[in-house]
Amino acid sequence: MAQRMWALVKSRPEPGLWLEPVPIPEVGINDVSIEVLQTGICGTDLHIYCWDAWAQKTIPVPLIIGHEFVGRVVQVGANVKDFYPGEIVSGEGHVVCGRCRNCLAGRRHLCKDTQAIGVNRPGAFAEYIVLPMTNVWAHDPNIPREIQAIFDPFGNAVHTALSFPVLGEDVLITGAGPIGLMATAVVRHAGARFVVVADINPYRLALAQRMGATRVFDPRQEDLHAIQRQLGMKEGFDIGLEMSGNPQAFRLMLDNMAHGGKIALLGIPENETAINWHTVIFNGLTIKGIYGREMYETWYKMTVMLQSGLDIRPVITHRFHYTEYEEAFRVLTKGNCGKVILVWKEESPVPKDLPNRT
Ligand code: NAD
Ligand code: ZN
Repeated sequence: MAQRMWALVKSRPEPGLWLEPVPIPEVGINDVSIEVLQTGICGTDLHIYCWDAWAQKTIPVPLIIGHEFVGRVVQVGANVKDFYPGEIVSGEGHVVCGRCRNCLAGRRHLCKDTQAIGVNRPGAFAEYIVLPMTNVWAHDPNIPREIQAIFDPFGNAVHTALSFPVLGEDVLITGAGPIGLMATAVVRHAGARFVVVADINPYRLALAQRMGATRVFDPRQEDLHAIQRQLGMKEGFDIGLEMSGNPQAFRLMLDNMAHGGKIALLGIPENETAINWHTVIFNGLTIKGIYGREMYETWYKMTVMLQSGLDIRPVITHRFHYTEYEEAFRVLTKGNCGKVILVWKEESPVPKDLPNRT
C-alpha cells in the first residue's frame, strides 16, 4: 500500500476543509516530487473552504487544495536532469497543455487548456506534491523562505504591475489585499511617481502605507479627484491596477484615468459588471486582462527585484502550523491580515535577510 501523508482535503461538497491522511503521490518519469515546507493561503482557498457558487461548479471533490508553496525536492523522475534532491523550489500552479498555439509560441500563460493545482488537480496543502518538471522553479536560496512560499501571488502582482511601463508614471491601485499590497511595493521599485491605493479596510490601508504608497484612502470617505489635486496631478492616473474585483472600484478607476491611460485588470468580479464604455472609448483607455504569471519571465523578474532591494516582507502578517488551519482561515475571513502562511515543516536555521542593495 502507498505511504501516507497529511493533507488539507476538500473531501465533502459542503463548507469546511478536512485534515486527512492520503496516499503520497507517485512520481512519473517527467515529474519532480517536492516536500512542502510552507504554503500561503489565497482568497481562492477561502472560496473553496466556504463552498460558494464558484467552488461548487469548479472543484472536483475530493481534492487536496492550495497552490502557493515552497518546498524541497525529494525525488525526480528518470527524464529529469535539471533538478536534484535538496533543492528549494516553488511550483508554477498553472499546468499548461504545451500543444496549443500560445503554448507553442512560448506564451504559456495564455494556454487554452490550463489546469490549476489545488483547483483542477491535486494541490500543495499537503506534506508532498508532485509536479511536471516544466512547472518547477528553483529559488535563489538567499530569498527568505516565507517569501519563496508566496511567489505565486507575488507573481500575480508583478505580472500586473509590470504590464505597462510605470517609470515616472502616476499609478492608482484599487484593492490593498495581499496582491495590491505587493503591487504597491513593485511599482515603487519600478520607478512610479505617485502610487495611490484605495481600500475600504483601514488595517490594509495602513499596510499599503508601509509598502510604499504615496497616499492611501477609503473611497467611501474621500474624493479621489480632490486627492489628485492635493498631489498636484492635473490629468488623471497614467496606470491603473484593479486588484479588488469590486465593480465600484473599477468604475472609480475609469473615472480617474488620464486620457490614453492603461489599466491592468486582475481582480475578479463576482458577476457581470456594467461600466460607462464612453469613458473607455473617448478617453482612449487600454484595458488588459491579467491571468496568472508569465512563464517564466514573471518568475525571473520577481527574483531579480528581490535581489536588487525590493522588500515585500510586511505583506506577511500571520503564521500558523498546518494543524491550526481553522484559525488561519478565521483570520483570513475577518480580513485584518496581509498574507497568511501555513508552516508544514519547521526548519532551522532559515535564511532571514535579503542581500543588501548594492
Ligand atoms: P483580497 O480579496 O484579499 O483583496 C481585495 C481587496 O479589495 C480587499 O482588501 C478589499 O477590502 C478591497 N476592496 C473591496 N471593495 C473595495 C472598493 N470598493 N474599493 C477599494 N478596495 C476594495 O484579494 P487578493 O488575494 O489581494 O487578490 C486580489 C484580486 O485578484 C481578487 O479579486 C482575486 O480574486 C484576484 N486574483 C486574480 C488572479 C488572476 O490571475 N487574475 C489571481 C489571483 C487573484
Ligand atoms: Zn496550451
